[in-house]
Amino acid sequence: MCDLGIEGRCQNPVECEKRRLIFKAQNEKMLELFGHTEFELFKRAFKEKGFDSLKKDPKRTHSADRAYERAISEAEIRSVFKNGDIVEYYQGNGIKKMLLWGFHYLGRKKYRPIHVVLKKEMTESMWEIATVYDPRSQPWLWNKEIYSERICFCKKRFL
Ligand SMILES: [Zn+2]
Repeated sequence: MCDLGIEGRCQNPVECEKRRLIFKAQNEKMLELFGHTEFELFKRAFKEKGFDSLKKDPKRTHSADRAYERAISEAEIRSVFKNGDIVEYYQGNGIKKMLLWGFHYLGRKKYRPIHVVLKKEMTESMWEIATVYDPRSQPWLWNKEIYSERICFCKKRFL
C-alpha cells in the first residue's frame, strides 16, 4: 500500500501499475454486468426530466451548488450526461456508484474534461450527484490527456 494523504504524484508507480491491471479487469466486468445498463437507464431518465431526474442532496438545496463551488456549471454536467460515458461502476454495502467521464466544449477546439460521480442506495430509484470535478486537478490519478482511466491507487478511497 502506498502512503495516504500525500498528494501531487503517485507514491508507488510499480504497485499502482499492478493494481491498475487488476482494477481494470474487475471494473470491465462490473461495467458489462451492471454499469452500461445503469448508465443507459439514467440517460433515458435525464433526457426526459433533466435535473429533476436526480435526487437532491438534502443538505444542499440543489445538487449543482457544489459544482458551482468548483466552478463547474450545469451545462458542463449536462455535457457529461449527454455525450459522456461511464468509466467506473461499483456496487456493494447497500450502495451503487458510477463515475461518468466526458468533455465539455469550450470553443476554439478547446475541451474541458469533467468527471461526475453519481451514487444511490440500492433501494433508491434516483441517482444523486456525489461529486463533480475537473480531473486535471489531480492529473497523476488518470491516464494522460484522456482522464478516462484511473492509473494511481495510492488514495485508499475511490469509487
Ligand atoms: Zn499511486
